[in-house]
Amino acid sequence: MTLHIPFDNSYATLPDSFFARVNPEPVKAPSLIAVNAPLAQELGIDGLDDPNLAALFSGNALPDGATPLAQLYAGHQFGQYNPQLGDGRAVLLGEAIGPDGQRRDIQLKGSGRTPYSRMGDGRAWLGPVLREYVVSEAMHALGVPTTRALAAVRTGERVVRERPLPGAVLTRVAHSHLRVGTFQVFAARGDIEALQTLFDYAVARHYPDAPDPASFLNAVMRRQAALVAHWLSLGFIHGVMNTDNCSISGETIDYGPCAFMDSYHPATVYSSIDRYGRYSYAAQADIIVWNMAQLATALLSLMPDPEASVEPFTAQIHAMPEMIRAEWLSRFGKKIGVAQATPEDSALITGLLSVMEEAEADFTNTFRGLVDGTARNQFTDPVAFDAWAATWQARIKTEDDPQGQMRTANPALIPRNHRIEEMITAAVAGDDSLFHRLNTAYATPYADTGADADLRQPPKPQEVVQATFCGT
Ligand code: AMP
Ligand code: MG
Repeated sequence: MTLHIPFDNSYATLPDSFFARVNPEPVKAPSLIAVNAPLAQELGIDGLDDPNLAALFSGNALPDGATPLAQLYAGHQFGQYNPQLGDGRAVLLGEAIGPDGQRRDIQLKGSGRTPYSRMGDGRAWLGPVLREYVVSEAMHALGVPTTRALAAVRTGERVVRERPLPGAVLTRVAHSHLRVGTFQVFAARGDIEALQTLFDYAVARHYPDAPDPASFLNAVMRRQAALVAHWLSLGFIHGVMNTDNCSISGETIDYGPCAFMDSYHPATVYSSIDRYGRYSYAAQADIIVWNMAQLATALLSLMPDPEASVEPFTAQIHAMPEMIRAEWLSRFGKKIGVAQATPEDSALITGLLSVMEEAEADFTNTFRGLVDGTARNQFTDPVAFDAWAATWQARIKTEDDPQGQMRTANPALIPRNHRIEEMITAAVAGDDSLFHRLNTAYATPYADTGADADLRQPPKPQEVVQATFCGT
């Protein structure tokens, strides 16, 4: 059979100023690493037995109906506005409408240079491609809105980073690749007509119930507040929350230097380029508000009287921290077995977090340990934990099903950094078995089969990953 993707491409019908039409650049010797059959099925894709998959998922051949293009966007990178970014190493093949009626982008990442490549080579190396594949699929299994990974291919070429490394292409799926930065680029250029066109497109695609800028802003804020609280509840650190990596649909996007925390500390940073901790674990709740303020600023230009709208928009942004707090409370309440946490439960949650911080306890294993009674073992000196646990036991007595709450909020498995690094090292040496094993294990992160006990272990001191890299 030949691969069939049910394309229905809407972005390609937008004005020329929104993108550059560009084909993926062919690669030397593509070979398939993985194709995500369940996701393909969700998207209504058939013909996965096509012998040409490696060519199709590397960009050497185009699937029927593709209209390849690189999207334009801008964005604040570490607070600094960059007036032109855009897909510098990615090409949108088009959108597929699946049997569920949902429209989703299918994009090749690492597929060569585009007019937005600036100084870059348009390529990706194997490490970040496999990292994004594993971590984005794990996030999906954990229940977090995220882009997905449809396929990964080795290019048979080397890309030069600190040293020559094997090249790869990831096929990424998203509800859309619209970013805060997509709005910023037109607003900053004063191209209000394009901004209005983009806005109408985004409303139709994502928020049909929020057809005016104020309600649209609120809808995006709600999804982002929920998303960041979800990240916090799993110890996830995105690492590079620039406004170009902040999705309008509210999905986690751009897995560069992201990482899950092992031992708990709110100031944890892994990204090698985040020197001042702008995107540290705990800072994520503040930064998302800052990012939404940038979206609000761009949307102001759509208002009949922008000046007069500054105040109400500002008031909306000021309401966001409370939105995040409520989402945080709900998520962390469930993590300690409380179905509907009230503000009075906040102290109990932060009480546990401070005991954990003090003891440098493993985030994932401590919370999961509340389910199976092993949390205490995470503490070398359990005195403070015991004191906390006494209050906690008293609190959950009145709950219907604390175990059930905790079991679905506290995963046994998260993609730990040292396992990801180990997987990448093996794959660079040509062994993909750990990559496949991790994908299988992380697909059921809340089950505790015992089969993956080794994947639950925190890193030994010599295994601790100190820094992660953007991988560009
Ligand atoms: P990121 O940090 O991955 O979000 O990327 C920021 C910007 O740099 C985006 O416009 C990317 O397309 C671009 N970029 C990153 N890596 C490369 C590369 N290897 N070649 C060309 N552009 C790149
Ligand atoms: Mg990006």
